[in-house]
Amino acid sequence: MSAEYDIHVQEVLKQVPDADPDKIVDAFIRYEKDFLIPPADAIRAVLRRFQGESAPSSTSSTGQSSSSSQRQSLPVKKVERFSELAADDKNVEIEVEIITHNARTTMVRGEEKTVPYGLLEDMPWEEGGESTRWQFKDWGNSPNLHPGAIVRLEGVSVNEYQGQMSLNINQSSGVIILREGTRTVSKPGEPVDIGTIKNEGTITIVGRLLASRQDKIHRKDGTGSIDVVRGRLADDTGAIGFLSWEPFEHEIGSLLKIENSQVRCFRDTPELNFGSGTKIEIFHDSNFASTDDLAATSICKIEDLRDGASDIDIIIEFQKMVKRSFTGKDGEEKSVWSGDVADPTGRCRSSIWSEPPFDINALPITVRVRGARVRAWQGVPDITIDDASQIEVMAATPWGDDIDLANNLVEVDLSDLVSGPSRVGIKTIGTVVSVREDSGIIKRCPECRRVLRDGSCFNHGEQDGNPDVRIRFVLDDGRSTLSLFVNKESTVQLLSMTEQQIVTAIEKDGQVEFVQMIRENFLGRNISASGRSIVDDNGAMLLADDVSIIESDSALAATELRAKWGVV
Ligand SMILES: [Zn+2]
Repeated sequence: MSAEYDIHVQEVLKQVPDADPDKIVDAFIRYEKDFLIPPADAIRAVLRRFQGESAPSSTSSTGQSSSSSQRQSLPVKKVERFSELAADDKNVEIEVEIITHNARTTMVRGEEKTVPYGLLEDMPWEEGGESTRWQFKDWGNSPNLHPGAIVRLEGVSVNEYQGQMSLNINQSSGVIILREGTRTVSKPGEPVDIGTIKNEGTITIVGRLLASRQDKIHRKDGTGSIDVVRGRLADDTGAIGFLSWEPFEHEIGSLLKIENSQVRCFRDTPELNFGSGTKIEIFHDSNFASTDDLAATSICKIEDLRDGASDIDIIIEFQKMVKRSFTGKDGEEKSVWSGDVADPTGRCRSSIWSEPPFDINALPITVRVRGARVRAWQGVPDITIDDASQIEVMAATPWGDDIDLANNLVEVDLSDLVSGPSRVGIKTIGTVVSVREDSGIIKRCPECRRVLRDGSCFNHGEQDGNPDVRIRFVLDDGRSTLSLFVNKESTVQLLSMTEQQIVTAIEKDGQVEFVQMIRENFLGRNISASGRSIVDDNGAMLLADDVSIIESDSALAATELRAKWGVV
């Protein structure tokens, strides 16, 4: 059994004489059978593992000393489980599986910096074992971190924030791939999955043509227009819009290989641009998803809508509509029909620029929309339909009658909410980690509803102001935070106090005491909040119209947190 591994086992024993030969064979078998890595390729990983298990000094004479020990003078702390780590551990070595990996660009000291974050799991080789998940931040922007990959991290450090432990992968850390992830790094010229296209650059794709139409782009200086072709391509990972500056006459349904296409981002949406340097040819692959399948799967959902998207197909329910008429620039009388729409993933707005093919007084109605554009206003997507011919009224909803979309709240992870687009009709949960000073009675500008600072509006100067009631919380799910604004009705309900009782309490005990009372009652509590989110450069806000405490076993944890903060 072990004969085929003999030569490799001998190699390992040469460098780690005190290792157990049977265990080395087991390791090779495992790499080969479970991970399809032949012994010749697995030897480095196996070697590292056994070097790590034996005394560190045994490796120094081989010239194979681990890079992390050269990197940092601190002793290496090699562990298998997160539970072996303490909050101040540095220069840690551990093998983990990457569970999620999200690239997030943030401003660090005025500079844009990409610091990916995500989840890791310890004990990656254990099947059905008890793995623990931690978060990580990757300050080194390693190209080796992909979901599904098993890696050995060297020279990483532990971070503790409000009792939550996580790993920092530093610029000097080593990330060694032990098993490739599901998302492979593409070489130039090699096709990428359409669903993974996020950033600007030059790429190659293979996709099926789902839509294509002639269009004109008018020059800004009024010197005429340029003929272009717009459309949509898809593979089984996603769909993407394109703009061709060159003649493009392929038939719908064609499978195309497109080399040297430029990805441009319009608002939040990537789009392919074809120019004179782009090479387009018919591609043959009998296993590629059919046009019908792709058309069915590339139907958007409201939760996926991004500002700037075009040529999208979507099924939505119109819930409320109004017709608005106005006089256009050319003096012509124009009308737009706009309203609230929903699907099972959320709610947003829609505008139709010609007479709708249904009675706007007999809603709700479900329609299928083709080739729509998306524009966001104050973060809320608006599905813009230029012509009624893009709308097909459906006899029944595809999601069944038992979903009441008018009152449907979509539950979204707090972290997903923070990293995603602004949304309407969502619900999330998190822990209250802060109560802001300006909670209680506030005064709003009568003109614009902004909160007055020292009796003055940012836009409208000194004002008497209209009183309003609200609470500002900071909500945390261990990975992300958002500002939670609780409106008057919900504040009154949450505090079990009327507006008048709140006014009286603040007059009697003062603002500081009042906020202190809220802190005592809410810090560390898990709460559920629903409303609409606004995500922009300043972070994420949730404007909530319904907030409630989730009763759970976390009462003890909350008490501990309060004690820690000295808010007993
Ligand atoms: Zn104002």
